[in-house]
Amino acid sequence: MKIEKTFQSRIGKVDFNNIAFGNLYSDHMFCSEFKNGQWKNSIIKPFGNIMFSPISLVFHYGQAVFEGMKAYKDKNEEVFLFRPEENFKRINRSAIRLEMPTIPENVFMNGLKKLIDIDRDWIPKNYGQSLYIRPFLIATNGVLSAKPSKDYMFMIISTPADVYYKHPLKIKIEEKYSRSASGGVGFTKAAGNYASSFYPTRLANEEGFDQILWTDSSTHTMIEESGTMNVFFYLKNKLITPKANDNILSGITCKSIISLAKKEGFFVEKRNLSVSEIIKGFKTGELKEAFGCGTAAVINYFETISYKGNNFFLPKIIEKKRISVYLKKRLLDIQHNRSEDPFRWRIQLKRYK
Ligand SMILES: *Cc1c(COP(=O)(O)O)cnc(C)c1O
Repeated sequence: MKIEKTFQSRIGKVDFNNIAFGNLYSDHMFCSEFKNGQWKNSIIKPFGNIMFSPISLVFHYGQAVFEGMKAYKDKNEEVFLFRPEENFKRINRSAIRLEMPTIPENVFMNGLKKLIDIDRDWIPKNYGQSLYIRPFLIATNGVLSAKPSKDYMFMIISTPADVYYKHPLKIKIEEKYSRSASGGVGFTKAAGNYASSFYPTRLANEEGFDQILWTDSSTHTMIEESGTMNVFFYLKNKLITPKANDNILSGITCKSIISLAKKEGFFVEKRNLSVSEIIKGFKTGELKEAFGCGTAAVINYFETISYKGNNFFLPKIIEKKRISVYLKKRLLDIQHNRSEDPFRWRIQLKRYK
């Protein structure tokens, strides 16, 4: 792998006391090209613009997939990745579904580890803060006919992220629009999934909701995800999350919460969950908590869920007694090397320098 370090670090521009997510990207980026059926020209170089032909397939037919992950520091400023092999496997599941070449493990992992090591000063050091890492794969050539590209580029960029604090969410159960359909690409991190959710999300925002609770596209009666988070409901003393299928993205945070919660003695169920079951849970008082989870927020709990114009309020529980808040802390403790790591999820980054 070639390494070209920057002569002008921009790190002095970062205000670590007031991190604006996505405002500044760390000094370097990783690129690797897929040409003539082979991965080549892996390089770490200064973050900057890239140039592609206007014919590149990514611009016309949307061959693009991505990942989202984080690097964390502990009290001694040692750096840890959280389950990166899961992101590696998932980007390749996405790539296969979009008829793109898979990325070899050494290209993904060596690029990732070396890049984050070089930019380790960009990782904020406080609890809850992190460096958000964005690997992505795009089609870089084409001939304007609707056929898969021959050439691709895999890249990794990163940006400092502050403690994610958002007020409890107001959620709307969606009955018209869909994020995904059976047989489609909902289980992948395809760029187009996001593009198609922007419009219904803006409509929901204008109605006063933070996010949509997506339901199945054919009947709108089964719960799938919320925004770009997986969801959990604490109903009848069980943590229930919709079973992953091809409409639902299999989240690494979700998987981790399931393992953690089970280990902590909670009853966890992965199964189909209907809207009517949730509404009934509100009415009987058996629905105690509901929350979304993903790499960005870790966990964000819901305050209200709206269905057919009716707002249902979740019980007001103090934070200290919330299962969602407890599980979030357990997960963050593991990510920041503040507790044991019984599942071996942490990967400590060696210093190559
Ligand atoms: C990325 C994503 C998630 C969360 O996945 P994590 O691996 O936990 O970050 C959930 N739903 C959708 C649609 C996503 O794109």
